[in-house]
Amino acid sequence: MTKITVAKGDGIGPEIMDATLKIIMAAGAKIEIEEIEVGEKVYLAGNLAGIAKESWDIIRRNKVFLKAPITTPQGGGYKSLNVTTRKFLGLYSNVRPCMSLHPFVKTKHPDMDIVIVRENEEDLYAGIEHQQTDEVVQCLKLISRPGCEKIVRYAFEYAKQYGRKKVTCFTKDNIMKQTDGLFHQVFDEIAKEYPEIENEHWIIDIGAAKMADTPEAFDVIVMPNLYGDVLSDVAAQIAGSVGLAGSANIGETCAMFEAIHGSAPRRAGQNLANPSGLLQGAIMMLNHIGETKVAEKVQNAWLKTIEDGIHTYDVFKEGVSKQKVGTNEFAEAVIANLGQVPTILKSVSYANSSALNLPKYQRKPSAKKELVGVDIFVHWNGSNPDELAEKIQKLNTPEATLSMITNRGIKVWPEGFEETFCTDHWRCRFKPTEGQKITKVTIVQLLNDALEQNIDTIKTENLYNFDGKSGFSLGQGQ
Ligand code: NAD
Repeated sequence: MTKITVAKGDGIGPEIMDATLKIIMAAGAKIEIEEIEVGEKVYLAGNLAGIAKESWDIIRRNKVFLKAPITTPQGGGYKSLNVTTRKFLGLYSNVRPCMSLHPFVKTKHPDMDIVIVRENEEDLYAGIEHQQTDEVVQCLKLISRPGCEKIVRYAFEYAKQYGRKKVTCFTKDNIMKQTDGLFHQVFDEIAKEYPEIENEHWIIDIGAAKMADTPEAFDVIVMPNLYGDVLSDVAAQIAGSVGLAGSANIGETCAMFEAIHGSAPRRAGQNLANPSGLLQGAIMMLNHIGETKVAEKVQNAWLKTIEDGIHTYDVFKEGVSKQKVGTNEFAEAVIANLGQVPTILKSVSYANSSALNLPKYQRKPSAKKELVGVDIFVHWNGSNPDELAEKIQKLNTPEATLSMITNRGIKVWPEGFEETFCTDHWRCRFKPTEGQKITKVTIVQLLNDALEQNIDTIKTENLYNFDGKSGFSLGQGQ
């Protein structure tokens, strides 16, 4: 008997959770349920995280969490419970299978069967944002080597376990050479350990276009957090409906399973919602806890029900569907089909589908880190970069020389273009003066000089080489 934490959530959440639990219990799942309250009520009671401390204790103790969608109230500083849960519990891997159910659910892509493996903890979701000048705000994109290694290895191990042939990586490393560049580099490194699985990399823009046009060309696709967030919804929608897809959030000790859709408040309480997305999440949960036989039985019964044309309103189509049913009736139909397999859709076998056992991340030896310059960001309301360069060159720090000024990344000094639009946010790059060395003391001195000369510095970024290799990008146009 495995004890799991269940949250029924908001909107359609309670209805689809009841339907899901009824199905998996009828199939013989050996689980014991401990229910917690999360979401709207908790938020509106003044808890900005949407979850009480005692509930965290329960989630951490049980380690397996089945969660219905919740409503995050608009405004008021409420934090997304999903993002917090993923990060607090280290749920680094988000797995979203998106498979078409042709000809029973309408799709333009009858042969689509892809799994999106999305990095779940870092990237722009670090949520580190600042307004720095009147005109410019910033969001920090953080990508780490452990983050990349863990997710890429997960994608290959998943492909291996589920007999999938290819893992594709999507990044934008032609532009973000450091962050997306690291993700791509780690992908290439780890791919070598799996010679039996094909691997490829696509630049995200054309890769996404190709995925939306010819999804059957892909198998498993691994990507950083934000791209994965957007593209997994696209993939689910073009497979048939976002209402049909489930998602697993997997960490080293805990895991959370859910539907990918939201709480659909307008459909709540009417016995209308499709429980399939949450049921798909629950099936991944059953595999995760080793109840693979039950998972297989439920999935085959669900496929048979879809094939029988018993459909909720969201996928019901005159001529294809046979019977339009509500949430409860759909659950009853799946229960009646337990023990049966589909005849046209492919039945599943989960003999080999329990939780992946991945090695722990091993920290690499530190590289030789050398300070080779500094970027000082300045809030300045002027418009002529030559004027700013003149002011900055007056800073009285002989070890450092101004080498470049950029505005929103594009070089505007020396030899900028008059046509370049400039905001009030300037980056001044200092390199060592010929024959000198820049140290942390030089940087403090530069900031002190700037203060004395009334220059409004807003932040600094140190420029490092790691083992002699540059750890920063050039200015655009440099
Ligand atoms: P949504 O997914 O709730 O709804 C989008 C559309 O899909 C609606 O037309 C809805 O009726 C339909 N739909 C969704 N799930 C369905 C189902 N199971 N059966 C039938 N139809 C279904 O997205 P939204 O309207 O943007 O968000 C509503 C609320 O959900 C918001 O408060 C949002 O913050 C929250 N949300 C929660 C989660 C989560 O908890 N994981 C995820 C996304 C959105």
